[in-house]
Amino acid sequence: MGRRMDTPPALTLPAATGGGRNGAVFRLTLGFIALVILTFAGVEGWRAWRDYQQAFAQANDTVVNLARATAQHAEDAIRQVDVLTDALGERIEGDGLDHLDVPRVHALLVQQAAIMPQLDGLYIYGPDGRWVVTDKDIAPESANNADRDYFIYHRTHDERRVRIGEVVRSRSTDQLIIPVSRRLDNPDGTFAGVLLGTVRVSYFVDFYGDFKIDDKGAIVLAMRNGRILVRRPFIPGITEQSLAQSEIFRRYLPLSDSGVAQIKAVVDGTDRLYGYRALSRYPLVVEAGLSRESFVGPWRRGVIKTVLFLLVLIAGLSGFGFIVLSQLRQRMVMENALLQAHRAMEEMALTDSLTGLGNRRRLDLVLEQEVGRARRQGYCLAMIMLDVDYFKRFNDRYGHSMGDECLRQVGAVIRQTLKRPADLAVRYGGEEFTVLLPDTTSTGASQIAEALLQAIRALHIEHADHPLGFVTASAGIATCLPMSDVVTPVGLIKAADAFLYMAKNNGRDRWHSALGNSTLEPFAAPPS
Ligand code: GH3
Ligand code: MG
Ligand code: MG
Repeated sequence: MGRRMDTPPALTLPAATGGGRNGAVFRLTLGFIALVILTFAGVEGWRAWRDYQQAFAQANDTVVNLARATAQHAEDAIRQVDVLTDALGERIEGDGLDHLDVPRVHALLVQQAAIMPQLDGLYIYGPDGRWVVTDKDIAPESANNADRDYFIYHRTHDERRVRIGEVVRSRSTDQLIIPVSRRLDNPDGTFAGVLLGTVRVSYFVDFYGDFKIDDKGAIVLAMRNGRILVRRPFIPGITEQSLAQSEIFRRYLPLSDSGVAQIKAVVDGTDRLYGYRALSRYPLVVEAGLSRESFVGPWRRGVIKTVLFLLVLIAGLSGFGFIVLSQLRQRMVMENALLQAHRAMEEMALTDSLTGLGNRRRLDLVLEQEVGRARRQGYCLAMIMLDVDYFKRFNDRYGHSMGDECLRQVGAVIRQTLKRPADLAVRYGGEEFTVLLPDTTSTGASQIAEALLQAIRALHIEHADHPLGFVTASAGIATCLPMSDVVTPVGLIKAADAFLYMAKNNGRDRWHSALGNSTLEPFAAPPS
């Protein structure tokens, strides 16, 4: 019959699960703290990202609106001058510059200049640059504007459209002005002179100053070639500067007339978000920029506060976690030590100190479980009860300590003879040993009993008061048959004891079982 390699029955230890439970609590606590921190960090990170998007979108809208408003304003201001000079030009050309009713035209110019707040002056120049009529009451002595840029341009170009020039300082009012000029023709198309409306730079500076933008924000009105006309903040000499090399003029405007760009300003090096727009009617461009700091700053301060809060939270949670976990760890260490001590004590309580085999308590524990198992699983369970022969005499002759040594050696050979891990050998008491053999038939048990007795004989321990002259032992074998439900632990022990008694009575140094005994040798063939 096949031998099942059963593991020895596990003894139930009450504290055995403590370590595992503590480990789970440890991991759970650690996981919980990590989860709380990660959740907070995740939520706050997401919120910071969303806030940044919002701040950026808001700034974007602001600069787009600003650019649109300033572009509209500039266009309106120039258009009014355009329309006015167009009408005046018609009229002057109709009358002819030589036949001009100077007092009447002067009155007209004074009246028109008064109703347009952006106008600094209106001027009519003859073909040689001399002042013919202006809105001013007195003209400077020998005033001549033939040297002005716009004058030279109109004299040399027969183009009829209005022209916007670079900022100059007015000779009559000493104001910074933007010249808006157009050519006057004679009926034959030859150059008759120039009609000029001057627009105050301060008109735009005041308008731009009214917008509520941050200190580092900027609004610029420039010519399409990049030359700056007006800027907020307005600094001396700014109108000499050009934006031609700025990114907006180089990269953005060639692609689109309006848009948004995040760039570093060429004038002051500030990082800004700019809305830009090229005017549709005139070669002018406006830029309205908010400093990046103006919308990123508040957002960054919010993020710093959040990060500080998170750090405090993490520190608090870590401290809390550290205390909880270190206490838990201490408890685990303690429980582990207790468990080890408990196991060691239990092992000690179940071990025979002389031979190192199990003791009677271990047999009681295991036997109970094994009988039940054998019954449930339907296999044979064999028990060998083994007793050293004439041991009282041995003690009497050689002394108690030699007797102990003899028992130690017998215990050792029993342990060596048993091969299967499921087999259990205990010192039942005195010089009596019990071997429990799960899943073993009567035949198998008698072979093992024979092997045990032979091994003890082979020790050849001198015993002068033994008829054979050396130490031997006798054994009784009891087997509980498969499916037998009458067998009990006590019954098995009693049966084995009875066969042992029989072996003693029949001359010792032999085994007896229900099926026979070693002297008749019905199963004497030793295991090969
Ligand atoms: P039998 O062959 O019938 O078994 O005779 P016996 O002398 O072996 O049996 P008995 O039960 O009469 O004697 C057992 C003796 O074993 C009694 C005691 O002196 C001795 N003994 C019991 N326990 C120990 C022990 O722990 N150490 C030693 N040295 N001797 C022990
Ligand atoms: Mg005895
Ligand atoms: Mg004995």
